[in-house]
Amino acid sequence: MNPLYRDMPTTIFEAMSMRARETGAINLGQGFPDGPINAAVIAAACDAMHQRSNQYPPMIGLPELRDAVAGWYARHQALDLAADEVVVTSGATEAIAAALLALIVPGDEVLLFQPLYDAYLPLVQRAGGIARIVDLDRTSWRIDPAGLTAAIGPRTRLIVFNDPMNPLGTCAHPDDQALLAQACVEHDLIAICDEVWEALVYDGAEHRSLMQQPGMRERTVKIGSAGKIFGLTGWKLGWMCATPPIARVLAKAHQFLTFTSPPHLQWAVAEGLNSQDAWIATARAEHQASRDFFCAGLHAIGLATIPSAATYFVTVDLAASQVPMDDVAFCEAIIGSAGVAAIPISAFYAENAPSHLVRFCFAKHRATLQAALDGLARALPGLR
Ligand code: PMP
Ligand code: GLN
Repeated sequence: MNPLYRDMPTTIFEAMSMRARETGAINLGQGFPDGPINAAVIAAACDAMHQRSNQYPPMIGLPELRDAVAGWYARHQALDLAADEVVVTSGATEAIAAALLALIVPGDEVLLFQPLYDAYLPLVQRAGGIARIVDLDRTSWRIDPAGLTAAIGPRTRLIVFNDPMNPLGTCAHPDDQALLAQACVEHDLIAICDEVWEALVYDGAEHRSLMQQPGMRERTVKIGSAGKIFGLTGWKLGWMCATPPIARVLAKAHQFLTFTSPPHLQWAVAEGLNSQDAWIATARAEHQASRDFFCAGLHAIGLATIPSAATYFVTVDLAASQVPMDDVAFCEAIIGSAGVAAIPISAFYAENAPSHLVRFCFAKHRATLQAALDGLARALPGLR
């Protein structure tokens, strides 16, 4: 048995969702939306299932979807990707796994930034990589240039960068993107850029990919997910984009992970990317309004937050809220006393975790968010 898996706990997302199901708590833990979800894309998938093929599509994805992904990035992010630079995967998770398997050999070092999405570290380890972990500054959530330089060595091959960032909902500062690009060019590194939250950036801001930085077009693997763009997280349909010599190697890793992904979902997402820009903008505005509603409610009951600029998430700062508990104890307590499930941010750290931060998902109906706020208001006096 592989000790990596034998000794591994179940992911915090599954663990908290299971606790919420068992206790009937409102689940503001794992990130999935109550809505909006895109009905046109769902209808297109049903039509495709009945009227088109249900057999294996091409290994790297249907040409319609690869064209649509390239077109969507051209319209929204001014990227000049060609369809043959897009490899369709079964979710962003598979893309991350395939990219790591394809791009490192055992003993290679991979830079990860804390807080880190939970899949990165185990996947780097399973690919035989050695993780070098760079802490983001715990106030600004920016990259410390000295910390970055110190982490890069002769065996460093890759960086994995998540922008917008889960869990905190921050967007990378342009100066940090420039710093990363310089480091990648100088040390001949490839960047795996997990940009699954790119369509959920708020307050009028627009996502800019690391791929647009000087020198990065040829050394970035840009990862996206239809689950996030259309509010359909269970679909597990994603993609990875890279210059042809890299894309060809990524495809080789993908071919023996899942080989391909359901064709009706691919047709539907292609149609959605080509026709649903207005819906995507509306969904973004609705999530922003949910964020504002939920944050105002948190602040009204004395819970301080880290500003959320993107994603489905906002993070409460327990220390700044005069709640003298650590994040895990707080999450345990509020499942029972408030009837609310949340995620301790320490789950996104491999080492030296902060213990005062808790993530909540605000992508829920107003009534659900209000019920959660009412539960937290009732529980808080007992926790202070
Ligand atoms: N990366 C990040 C940063 C995520 O937040 C998520 C899911 N929330 C994923 C990857 C996984 O995406 P998918 O469901 O498409 O595999
Ligand atoms: N990425 C989602 C979140 O952060 C969860 C994905 C999962 O459950 N694996 O909540």
